[in-house]
Amino acid sequence: MLIKNRRFSGGYRFSKFEGEPGEKIIENPVPQKVIIPLKQGFGKEVVPVVKKGDAVKAGQMIGNDANSVSNPVHSSVNGTVEDIQKMAYPDGEIESVIIHSDGTDGWQALKGQSSDWKKLSDEKIEELIYLSGVAALDSAGIPTRFNSSIVPPKDIKNIIIQAAGDEVYNLSPEVLFEGDRLNQFIYGIRLLRRVMPGAAVHIVLNKYLKKLINKISSLSRDSDWIKIYPLEPKYPQSCNEVVIPTVLKKKYPYGFLPASIGVVVLSAQTALHVYEAVALGKPLIERTIALCGPGFDENLHVKVRVGTPVNDIISPNVKNPEDCRFVTDSTMKGNTITDTGLPIQRTWSKIVALREKKEGEMLSFAKPGFAKDSYSMTFASSFINFKKNADTNIHGEERACISCGFCEQVCPVGIIPHLLFRYTERDLVDEILVIYRIYKCINCNLCTYVCPSKIQVAAYIKEGTEKLLEMGIDYTDPVKQSFELKGLEEYKGLTE
Ligand code: SF4
Ligand code: SF4
Repeated sequence: MLIKNRRFSGGYRFSKFEGEPGEKIIENPVPQKVIIPLKQGFGKEVVPVVKKGDAVKAGQMIGNDANSVSNPVHSSVNGTVEDIQKMAYPDGEIESVIIHSDGTDGWQALKGQSSDWKKLSDEKIEELIYLSGVAALDSAGIPTRFNSSIVPPKDIKNIIIQAAGDEVYNLSPEVLFEGDRLNQFIYGIRLLRRVMPGAAVHIVLNKYLKKLINKISSLSRDSDWIKIYPLEPKYPQSCNEVVIPTVLKKKYPYGFLPASIGVVVLSAQTALHVYEAVALGKPLIERTIALCGPGFDENLHVKVRVGTPVNDIISPNVKNPEDCRFVTDSTMKGNTITDTGLPIQRTWSKIVALREKKEGEMLSFAKPGFAKDSYSMTFASSFINFKKNADTNIHGEERACISCGFCEQVCPVGIIPHLLFRYTERDLVDEILVIYRIYKCINCNLCTYVCPSKIQVAAYIKEGTEKLLEMGIDYTDPVKQSFELKGLEEYKGLTE
């Protein structure tokens, strides 16, 4: 069923940037070594179930913890455990299993998988999804009876599948749904519904991809619980705080997970992994990663084993890695890859290579800007069809706020960024910021992006939120009072 005319106020549509990934996909060879962090995706770090010197198979479980909200982790290659040690990642130290690969291909199927998978019971499907590690994907995991999320499957009333692509760079839909993958995507959704039978499924698509919308509508015609939403692909539509109110017309509990109000938000790639887990018995050992941005020689997609060092992927495709900044997933708020010796994780879908451009640009606003993106449409690029540059420069110097209101126009959650930034800049941090709903900021960075005065608006707002926390002001109180949140105890355990 098609649902039209849903939109949110604010946001911004990025289009025609240099370095968008094309339709080519290649398979990366089996790596010589993989590093598998024992926490990847939703849930707590798990404990190793192998030891140094053990022979392992690709697809074999190497980490698990039945007693915590967590998901199993697998070896992605056939080989031998070389070491198990703590390693430093951008978000902290994580115990990691280092495996020396024997170079052979193939993987071990999950126990209980059947070629007659359409006849499997709901319980078996749920078990396969959990055992595969797929339940760890996306912002709050997939609920199963095995403690993979903060709530049980019966509490889920809505599943949102994100396939619109709202970022500067997005996975190509032609690659994502190539060949029989569109059918597999729909099977994946049907399997998810077997685990969460009380849920309606909402598929969010880019409204400009009419052929894809028609194909998905036709494949799901016999299921009135599937609803399709063709939306303007505006950033940051993929954020839970934006997509849930837009699609479900439901308020979001800022600071908490969608599962706490009975919603699961998943990516299209996750639905495909669900299909692979159940129909093929394939554990989550491989990802399709788009190589985006002008720093790469060729912008293509790579099928890669989880745990492959980032270097293995970028070295053949980047001439001068020292001139680039590498970012995972979101260009606007993704993590910078500080050490390219660290591994590709099972949650990743993009590596963006931006040219590092540190030198200041005097009077940037006065130049013609054939390749500059501009919210105010003051550059020639708004009228002439040139690809726009994406680099790390702010293109100008910080100036005083001119009260243009652009930051307020684009803010997707309806707060007033210039007001919040001014309070924080002047160190006027107290309850007044809670009254101005600072807690609704989702750190999308759009206010900073559009600011013509080059003010780091979002960074100021983040600083204000952190100061409130330091002062012991619990800004989540108004949220807790307005919602009946489920899974709070489990969530607390995860945020410690
Ligand atoms: S970073 Fe926060 S304040 Fe700025 S646009 Fe995004 S949600 Fe609004
Ligand atoms: S976009 Fe920048 S200059 Fe304009 S009101 Fe916001 S903070 Fe001020």
